[in-house]
Amino acid sequence: MHKEVALITGSTSGIGLAVAHRLAADGFAVVLHSRSSSAAGAALVAEIVAVGGDAIYVQADLADDSDRIRLVRSACEQWGRLDVLVNNAGISKVIAHGDLAAVTSDIWQTLNEVNVVAPFRLVAEAESALRESARKGGPACVVNISSHAGVRPKGASIPYAATKAALNQVTRMLAVTLAPDIRVNAVAPGLVDTPLTADWTAAQQLWRERAPMRRAAQPEDIAQAVAMLIASRYLTGEILLSDGGLNLT
Ligand code: NAD
Repeated sequence: MHKEVALITGSTSGIGLAVAHRLAADGFAVVLHSRSSSAAGAALVAEIVAVGGDAIYVQADLADDSDRIRLVRSACEQWGRLDVLVNNAGISKVIAHGDLAAVTSDIWQTLNEVNVVAPFRLVAEAESALRESARKGGPACVVNISSHAGVRPKGASIPYAATKAALNQVTRMLAVTLAPDIRVNAVAPGLVDTPLTADWTAAQQLWRERAPMRRAAQPEDIAQAVAMLIASRYLTGEILLSDGGLNLT
C-alpha cells in the first residue's frame, strides 16, 4: 500500500510551501499546487524527490470550478489515495476598513470564490477519498488556513475578514457533517512573514511591540500547527488561533 498522501493548495510560496516541506518530511507523498508558478512547482518536486520523498505538482486556478475538480482528481489518481487536504491558497486585499466605497461587488465575489467557495468545493470533491482514508486507518482530515481576521474584527479589509470568518464556520459545519470519518480543523494565523505581507510594515511593528511572542510567525510555525492538527486524531472543528498571543492584549 502506498504511503499517505496530502494535497496542499497554494504550496509554491509562503505558508503552503512550509506546509509542503513539513508534510514531506513527516513522510507524506505531497501534491503541490499553485495558480501559475509551474516552474517553481517543478523545482520543488525535484527538491523533495532528491531527498527521497514523493511529490507531484498540479497547476489549477481555484476560482474555476473545473480546475478545482481536476486538481482533486489528479491528486487522488496519482497514488490511488488522498488522506489530507490542506486548503491554504487564499487571496487578500488591503482596504482601510472605513473606506466603504472602495469595496466593490467584484472584490467581494473574487475573495469569496477563492477563500470560501474553493475550499468547500475541494472538500466536496475529496470527500469519498478522505472517507476511504478513514477506512484504511489514515488521518482522513482537512485543515483550512483561515486568519485571526476571521475571529476578531481585524485584518487587511472587511471582505477579507468576512471570507475568513465564513471559512471558520464552514470548518465547524463540515466537522459536524463529515464526522466521524473526516476531521475538519483550521489554523487561524495572525501575521506571518510571507511574500503576501512583505511590505506590511505597520503590522510587523505591531507584532514586534504588542504580541506576547514579540514577533510575527514564520511559515514554519504555521506548518507545525497544521502537522499537529493532522496528527491529533481526536481534534475536530477547532479554529486554532496562531497569532503569538496578539489577540490577548
Ligand atoms: P502567498 O501569497 O505566499 O500564498 C498564497 C497562495 O495562494 C499562492 O500560492 C497562490 O498561488 C495561491 N492562490 C491565490 N489565488 C489563487 C487562485 N485563484 N487559484 C489558485 N491558487 C491561488 O500568501 P501566504 O501568506 O502564504 O497565504 C497563505 C494563506 O494563509 C492564505 O489563505 C492567507 O489568507 C492565509 N493567511 C496569511 C497570513 C499572513 O500573514 N501571511 C495571515 C493569516 C492568514
